[in-house]
Amino acid sequence: MTIQDLRIQVQALLESGKVPEPVTDTWYLLEHTTGRTKADFFMDPGQEISPEVTEETLKLAEKRKQRIPLQYLLGSWEFMGYKFMVNESVLIPRQDTEVLVEEAVSRIKSGDRVLDLCTGSGCILISVLKYAAEHKRTDLSGLGTDLSEKALDVAKANATQLLAEEERQGLVQTTFCQGDLWDAADGTFDLILSNPPYIATAEIESLQEEVKIYDPYQALDGGKDGLDFYRRIATGVGSYLKPGGTLILEIGYDQGEAVSGLLEDSGFSAVSVKKDLAGLDRVVAGVYDK
Ligand code: GLN
Repeated sequence: MTIQDLRIQVQALLESGKVPEPVTDTWYLLEHTTGRTKADFFMDPGQEISPEVTEETLKLAEKRKQRIPLQYLLGSWEFMGYKFMVNESVLIPRQDTEVLVEEAVSRIKSGDRVLDLCTGSGCILISVLKYAAEHKRTDLSGLGTDLSEKALDVAKANATQLLAEEERQGLVQTTFCQGDLWDAADGTFDLILSNPPYIATAEIESLQEEVKIYDPYQALDGGKDGLDFYRRIATGVGSYLKPGGTLILEIGYDQGEAVSGLLEDSGFSAVSVKKDLAGLDRVVAGVYDK
């Protein structure tokens, strides 16, 4: 079959499954299975694709038609310009979360100890450390924690893949431990980061198919009003922050005021809210000076 015919078939399958962005997803799948770029395609739409690759592509398209997220089918996804391995055990890294990483990177100093609660794929911690090391910060150490052992396997694989060079040069040291929030942590940290589950339980039902069915439920559910993790973090995190240490949290678009209030009530100062690319509240940061 020619790549042109295959493209038409894949796109038709995705459209019949009401996949939100059928054209974009078709390109991702074709590039993944054929190893050819979009430009290669336009240079020669008549090029033949082997029966094996055709079959593999159509199999993936069928799965996408069932609304399995594209990222799980590809097995990896880009975040902060780095390629992270993903599977059904972790929340797919979202572009919105890059705001949290940027905020962390603007504050990190050489020698800092960083803790990432609910680390999932490890995308936050790994990007912060890698980016900081690439920008001359040294002697950094990071701990990522999560309840899910399977998520931690993904985080460890990502760290091995993405931080090997920085670790070899002695710039960065990373560990991942299973545990609820800070249960597996010892000592105090300069920077504590988290993108905890923050969807109100009743709202999970109205999320798009891909998220509702396939993203790990445990990574989404923030309790009745979505704020459960923020309450626990605000009241307990102080013992794990150094004096003057910073807490940076991702939040839902309508949680800025509530989460800022929780931090202020727990003794945080200089509490600020940052917006994402869509102009919505996305991150809250505060300094602990007790
Ligand atoms: N920290 C991970 C991320 O931002 C996982 C977050 C989660 O599971 N709630 O992708």
